[in-house]
Amino acid sequence: MRRLPVFFVLDCSESMVGDSLQKMEDGLQAIVRALRTDPHALETVYISVIAFAGVAKTIAPLVELVSFYPPKLPLGGGTSLGVALETLMAELDSSVVKTTPDRKGDWKPIVYLFTDGRPTDNPNTAIDRWNAKYAKKATLIAVGLGQSVDFETLGRLTENAMMFEDSQEGDFKKFINWVTASVVAQSKSVGESDAQSLANIDASLMRIFKNPPSKQADEACITLVGRCQKTRKPYLMKYDRAIQNVATQDFKLQVSRFEIAGCYPLEEDYFIWSDPRAMDLKVNSEDLIGTPGCPHCGNYTAFAACGCGKLMCINGPEEAFCPWCKKLVSFSFSGNDGGFDVGRGRG
Ligand SMILES: [Zn+2]
Ligand SMILES: [Zn+2]
Repeated sequence: MRRLPVFFVLDCSESMVGDSLQKMEDGLQAIVRALRTDPHALETVYISVIAFAGVAKTIAPLVELVSFYPPKLPLGGGTSLGVALETLMAELDSSVVKTTPDRKGDWKPIVYLFTDGRPTDNPNTAIDRWNAKYAKKATLIAVGLGQSVDFETLGRLTENAMMFEDSQEGDFKKFINWVTASVVAQSKSVGESDAQSLANIDASLMRIFKNPPSKQADEACITLVGRCQKTRKPYLMKYDRAIQNVATQDFKLQVSRFEIAGCYPLEEDYFIWSDPRAMDLKVNSEDLIGTPGCPHCGNYTAFAACGCGKLMCINGPEEAFCPWCKKLVSFSFSGNDGGFDVGRGRG
């Protein structure tokens, strides 16, 4: 039996923290559950999952549908698309059976690439290599999740570059159904010819970019990493962009600031999945609205900056050991409310 290899290349950068990552995990499970009910898919489909953030790794090697167990997705800092593509190409080389004169190999693999941001590495070499050596040998469907996606880059990778925006209740479920339907359609068409067809796209849900916009939308969120002073465990604060209208008697002005969306406990493996350079950027705390509590110990604020430049939790004016540099720091309330710069993520 010839196999139809399906690769999911999933963006697990920090902007996916919380709901989005959970949705992607649930979505993958839903796709697998639905595919198992289809006899064509059950016979031919093999699935593999590659996750990428600051680094990229195969977290589920190519396995038949029946034996596939959806992996827990990691979270890390950075969106290293170039590294993800290199990992994918290596995986295609090693896992896909090629056709030789005396053996029928696998069907043309399908790759679903999901990303919600712009690359933080330089993916150009990988994109060129993809187009020169792999583009004809695999069907790549690149799905941008939301507005912050670099569609110009996705458009250079594949003509199947599309955007999904989760604007209404139930949209994500429809989207998952579409992915499932497109795998099923391809598993049926492989028996008939080498041409593969994608399932019809629900235009209310997805937009295909024939000419991807070259201008990107502004970043939709800012993320910051801190550590709990009591447990030393890391957490991630996420701020979403909010447009404010500032009006005085004389003029009107639109200011965009970032409002707290949530503070999430992180696993220590967050740092393994992060690109160390991802912490280079700075943001001024004055642009951020709202300070969350610590998700580990319940301390009043997770937004206290040590002199070492890292963030930690505190419960008010106090002396505490910084969980990063281990020094004793004393925090007092300062009269002036001047902002300070803190390192921010790039995912
Ligand atoms: Zn804490
Ligand atoms: Zn410190």
